[in-house]
Amino acid sequence: MPIIEIICLANSRKHSGRCVAGVRTDGKGWIRPVSIMPEGVLQDRHYTLDDTSEAQIYDIIRIPLDKPNPQPHHPEDWLIRPETWELSSRRLTAEHIALLKASLTLGPTLLGGVEDRITYPASAGNDIPSHSLALVQPENLHFIVKSRKSGDKQVRVIFDLMGTQYNLAITDMEWEPRLRLKELGTYTLEDFGIPSSESPLLTISLSEPLLSEVAGENRCYKLVAALFLAPTGWNQSEYPIETPAIVAPATTKRGAKHKVEEAVAEATETPSSLIRVAVAGAAGRMGREVVRAIMEAEGMTLALAVDHQNVGVDAGELVGLGRTGVPIVEDLASALAVIAVDVLVDFTLPDSVFNNLKIAIENGVSPVVGTTGLSQEQLEEIDRRAKAKGIGAFVAPNFAIGAVLMMEFAAQAAKYMPDVEIIELHHEKKLDSPSGTALLTAQKIAEGRVNPPTSLPSNTVEKIEGARGATFSDIPIHSVRLSGFVASQEVIFGGLGQTLTLRHDSLDRRSFMPGVVLSVGLRN
Ligand code: NAD
Repeated sequence: MPIIEIICLANSRKHSGRCVAGVRTDGKGWIRPVSIMPEGVLQDRHYTLDDTSEAQIYDIIRIPLDKPNPQPHHPEDWLIRPETWELSSRRLTAEHIALLKASLTLGPTLLGGVEDRITYPASAGNDIPSHSLALVQPENLHFIVKSRKSGDKQVRVIFDLMGTQYNLAITDMEWEPRLRLKELGTYTLEDFGIPSSESPLLTISLSEPLLSEVAGENRCYKLVAALFLAPTGWNQSEYPIETPAIVAPATTKRGAKHKVEEAVAEATETPSSLIRVAVAGAAGRMGREVVRAIMEAEGMTLALAVDHQNVGVDAGELVGLGRTGVPIVEDLASALAVIAVDVLVDFTLPDSVFNNLKIAIENGVSPVVGTTGLSQEQLEEIDRRAKAKGIGAFVAPNFAIGAVLMMEFAAQAAKYMPDVEIIELHHEKKLDSPSGTALLTAQKIAEGRVNPPTSLPSNTVEKIEGARGATFSDIPIHSVRLSGFVASQEVIFGGLGQTLTLRHDSLDRRSFMPGVVLSVGLRN
């Protein structure tokens, strides 16, 4: 019972489950792992990998298989065993890319003919194909969103293959729902923020047979099971397969995102001049400001907007800047599988941020994090993962320059005035207390102190628990949550016959944006 390693090239919707397929790394062609369920559908327990992530395009996966299970229309099917699939790597080597290139179907025929289906028995002009999966590099790709007679939307991909035009339905689990959210019409990849310089690739799969009652024949339709961008170096006419493995830091270029050897990326890719930015939490209070700031910043482009709210709404329209062609999508991981991104700016929620950061780093995308509430352990874990990937990660509990200065001045004052308390004041919807700014200020004060603070009398009584605030390194922190505030903080130092108050007020969320844009620009 073999374990076979594949490069994952399809992870598409199939009824209520998925169809996963890929080419074998041993060069022996395609495999479509199938379950014993009707039509071989896979459930999430099947394609969840040993690191708990889901199989993604370009993953190198080791799949425990039972035996070949060829069907007339799906000769590549293999029955899976119950064991968990193992993620070997999320990085394509030059050999993997060479293998993909060798797997390309060049056209003009595709899976047995030039039509959008094959039939059993074979009709004129078509053969029963020897395989049911193909990787193609389309030309003139565009999308069409149409309406069926029933009123349902139909989404299709139109492309040329060596002069033959194909018009096929799409079942790619990221692109199909994305396209369905669009108005009826025709769209290009650029409408989704993908520059025309990118090369899309498609995995085409035959559908299960459908019996045509009129024609009395079985029809298997050709479906676009996956749409993704070619790895870096793909368009080099002589791809440097023999390039020795140079240990280079991961870059935030498209190559890193697509997990291709960064060294090869350095050698082969002309870097895009624009930094492609994803915003997580794009529909939130801060996220909307970030979308605006990125759209208005020079040298950056909004490539992706993620949120659980306002899904499908154009991010530019949401923030009043007009259509950008970047709709809000819900799932960061699957979006990063198809959209090239250099930096992820995260302004989500304390519960969401850690997972988002892991996904970004895994995809070679540098995070710039404004979300507060990450624990020290989580910060250390992010630091470790980013270093292991060779990318930068920037976490700041407060991007306002005034707040940064307040913290610096507080650290200086602490040398001479060790007795200090912090009052932070935020809007009533802020979820975490104390604020990240207050915690960082307290940490800096603790580091800046030369002398310990004066102890309070031992008979001090707290009549209501919490009246003296929470403490961090002997520094009381008081959190105020009231409508009207955006983010304010007072740091009050006390000394003999005197006090010194440092106060910062963010009166508008725009106060954070220059810091965010600066951090995106410094992404490494
Ligand atoms: P918000 O509630 O208005 O917005 C959060 C958004 O994140 C929501 O739209 C929510 O749907 C979305 N979201 C939740 N989980 C998500 C996920 N997994 N993927 C994508 N989107 C997801 O909150 P806000 O006021 O914008 O604040 C966001 C964070 O930013 C908070 O942690 C806040 O403390 C912090 N903040 C930081 C700074 C700074 O300078 N660093 C400044 C202000 C606020």
